[in-house]
Amino acid sequence: MCGIIGYIGKNENTEETIINNLKKLEYRGYDSSGICLFDNDEFYVHKSLGEIKNLYKNLNTKIKSNCGIAHTRWATHGKVSILNTHPHLSFDKIWCVVHNGIIENYLDLKKELLEKNIKVCGETDTEVVANLLCLHKGSVLEAIEKTIKILKGSFAFCIMNKNEKNTLFLARKNSPLYVAKSAKEVLASSDPVCFGEKFEDYYALPENSICVAKKDEIVFYDFNLKEIKVKKTKVTVFEKNASKGNYNYFAEKEIDEIPHVLNNIITSYSSTNYFEKIDHEYLKDINSIKLIGCGTAYHACLMGAKFIQEKTSMECSAHIASEFSYSNPKINKNTLCIFCSQSGETADTLLCLKLAKQNKAKIISLVNVPHSSIARGSNIVLPLCAGMEIAVISTKAYNAMLFVFYMLSLHMYNTKKFKNIDIIKKLKKLNKTNFFYNLNYIDDISNVVLKSEKVFFIGRGEDYVSALEAGLKLKEITYINCVSLPSGELKHGTLSLVDSKSLVFVIATKKELLSKNLASASEIKSRGGNIILVTNLNVDEENLQDVDFVYHFYKSPEELSSMLCIVPFQMLAVKTCLKLGYSPDKPRNLAKSVTVE
Ligand code: GLU
Repeated sequence: MCGIIGYIGKNENTEETIINNLKKLEYRGYDSSGICLFDNDEFYVHKSLGEIKNLYKNLNTKIKSNCGIAHTRWATHGKVSILNTHPHLSFDKIWCVVHNGIIENYLDLKKELLEKNIKVCGETDTEVVANLLCLHKGSVLEAIEKTIKILKGSFAFCIMNKNEKNTLFLARKNSPLYVAKSAKEVLASSDPVCFGEKFEDYYALPENSICVAKKDEIVFYDFNLKEIKVKKTKVTVFEKNASKGNYNYFAEKEIDEIPHVLNNIITSYSSTNYFEKIDHEYLKDINSIKLIGCGTAYHACLMGAKFIQEKTSMECSAHIASEFSYSNPKINKNTLCIFCSQSGETADTLLCLKLAKQNKAKIISLVNVPHSSIARGSNIVLPLCAGMEIAVISTKAYNAMLFVFYMLSLHMYNTKKFKNIDIIKKLKKLNKTNFFYNLNYIDDISNVVLKSEKVFFIGRGEDYVSALEAGLKLKEITYINCVSLPSGELKHGTLSLVDSKSLVFVIATKKELLSKNLASASEIKSRGGNIILVTNLNVDEENLQDVDFVYHFYKSPEELSSMLCIVPFQMLAVKTCLKLGYSPDKPRNLAKSVTVE
């Protein structure tokens, strides 16, 4: 969560460079933002609430500085206020700190500070750390080392000290942090997307490491201050491709990119056999497969589990990461854990990965961001090839997850049955026209959504998963309270909510379940609800008497229908959101890449 920038340059535009880079991270948190420029032995701190444009509106541009740090916050501790906005100064104004993550023992530490008569003014965990740094004698590096050793939780810190000009001190544990250097400048960031413009390569701070970055050298240490070597990572097209182009919103651009993502996957998986290591030997002792993710990635896991179980008959289940780690799961060397995360930094998922590792499980991950923590911690990585996804709502990455899970299920089927299905050929059946079929109806449907008091999404099997994802998209960016549930569950409770002001989307893509879905539609109609049937099946007119409108999406081969049926719902959410005057890229209270537990 949140965005961190640190910069050392030798130019008059330090604040402009910092703000430009901070803007690239705004999708990671936008409750408030702040900057600290180090100039003439002084820290100049400026903060503002809301989006980053508010920060540079009132910035004093007269400050000529070579070094500064900045932050865009997604509040975890303490309300959204100027006082709680980063950067935080220590009480003696010697230290200046920005932080991503959560310090779990901050209340105990705050108490210790109070006992020493050090008063912390705000409510954040971060401010406690800024003040703890003053307590330690010795060098700046030793003070940082001693402080972070007493912290519990997760952090990425970018720190300046008044006695060390033009130096950034970085530290990380369970939260990503990166740094790049060219002949002219040093840039630290919590996301490598900032390096695409000017740098050839960058360093990813290893877990539990500290880094001292100056213009002439970057040195890394472990938490005992033993120097460590870190390899550079090349900047890829992925980091370079982060602009909105001609679109008003990233969400619109990213939905439009879905067919392109499919092509990327086909090209990439045709030239590299990412499945190579998942061979007969690898699978032979596996007795349970667990797919783990959060939010949209969890929905992709639910779908993936259905694909894999259907194709291989192996026991396969999907789990919400934040539940999984605390449910005393049975994992051992015969378990295959498959982690799914767009950013590859999702803290809840990362925690499960550590647990899987401790228990010697086999680990595969589906991630979009190469070199992310989840990718680095996995034995086998299946890249999603979706390109940068900036809008907070995940669209193209969800589709990519489904494509890759589907290919994996076919590969596992091939491996188990010693058959040789051309996996790529199956996905090649989808093209651009298939994805965007009949989207002209979405505008009218969004008007119906806006007129309804309650919105429901129902379906069975894979269609229930699509109902979950369709509902999540709508809630995330329109703030409309909606319910997704399996069609058969309606009569076991939720039907009591249905009345004439209700709109129910019935998703039906499986022939054998159509009559059951239509029976649910009749139950809804009897209670006065309005029904939109979303299907790619041929349905006889006489079976449609209880349905108000049929939305047909493309008649794909049945096993690919879940990949097509979600697109109209993604569009519907964006259209409805725009009509309500909200931003589909930056929904309230949310942020991309949830790097806190
Ligand atoms: N825990 C810190 C706060 O609430 C950092 C949050 C963040 O990662 O943006 O200020």
